[in-house]
Amino acid sequence: MLPAGFTIGILGGGQLGRMMAIAALQLGYKVIGFAPAGDNVAADACSDFITADWDDGAALKDFAAACDVVTWEFENVPVSTVAALPQTLLACPLRALEVAQDRLAEKAFAASLGGAPAPYMAVESESDLAAAIAAIGTPGILKTARDGYDGKGQWRVRSLLEAGGVGFPGVTCIYEGFVMYETEFSVILVRGQDGSVKFWDSTANLHEGGMLAQSILPAGALVEAQVGKARELAAKVADALGYVGVLTLEFFATREGPVFNEMAPRVHNSGHWTIEGAATSQFENHIRAICGLPLGGTKTRFGSIEMRNIVGEDALRAHAILAEPGEPHLHLYGKAEAREGRKMGHVTRVGHALK
Ligand code: AMP
Repeated sequence: MLPAGFTIGILGGGQLGRMMAIAALQLGYKVIGFAPAGDNVAADACSDFITADWDDGAALKDFAAACDVVTWEFENVPVSTVAALPQTLLACPLRALEVAQDRLAEKAFAASLGGAPAPYMAVESESDLAAAIAAIGTPGILKTARDGYDGKGQWRVRSLLEAGGVGFPGVTCIYEGFVMYETEFSVILVRGQDGSVKFWDSTANLHEGGMLAQSILPAGALVEAQVGKARELAAKVADALGYVGVLTLEFFATREGPVFNEMAPRVHNSGHWTIEGAATSQFENHIRAICGLPLGGTKTRFGSIEMRNIVGEDALRAHAILAEPGEPHLHLYGKAEAREGRKMGHVTRVGHALK
């Protein structure tokens, strides 16, 4: 058990790190962040923040020397960066990052544990792309295997006619069949150092342009019917990885059952509602797990919950949301520039309290 006053190192400087750091401070820990130069909004909540490139060995040494445990808020931290740290500092095995960084690896991993991904094929060349489209058909989506997030590095192929216009982007890709889903949902779990697992309720997730826009509870009958099977897979993934902390798996709810889309070895945007809406938030339970503290309950506290992202220019008007009815809970991430398509904050509204 990591005593209060000890230091948690967080790799990555975004809003997830910021909210993790806030939870860590509340539990009496100090936080040191590490990320390359950029709008590192996590730094506001850290007692120290090292701004250095991922491959800066000297800076990583300084970071390691200051930390008692290390976690990440961003799954694209290079594996070589984490491998360069003393492995005893890692809250969670490096393998979780390795698998989650590669869409081909994560789909194969989930499938090996009984999960059902959409039909997919690896694409390494123009002819692979043609073969994948011929085998899987259209509509489909071509995605870069690595480094994609929030709908970036993705190209929809609506028809065979359109297929001719989509070229091979020059990096390893995956072509997947388009899933005709009713709803998207995520399973968010926390796994403790003793292997015990707790799940939060699954929200229905609405995406706009490949990016999460809204998470809603209750999620509806179809999601509720499929959550059990999805949780089974998520628990198997967590166990197989020897995972510690919060892990997220995203699914499509289809008439044929839950289709696995991807996993994130971290706290997740679709779990922001847990700050006000659950007995313990995903951020607090992640910190509890990696520090070896008892995990908190994950029960939903309200009959209805809605979390909406504030994206791009909306943030300029964000404080006006506080004057709206329904007791909105506003979270702004302190980002300097409200660029289009950029997550600037979120707002959570809760309905009647549950007993
Ligand atoms: P991803 O980066 O894989 O999470 O994709 C971002 C979003 O694009 C998803 O949340 C879906 O809304 C949509 N999407 C991705 N892959 C598929 C698919 N195979 N079929 C249908 N929609 C998809």
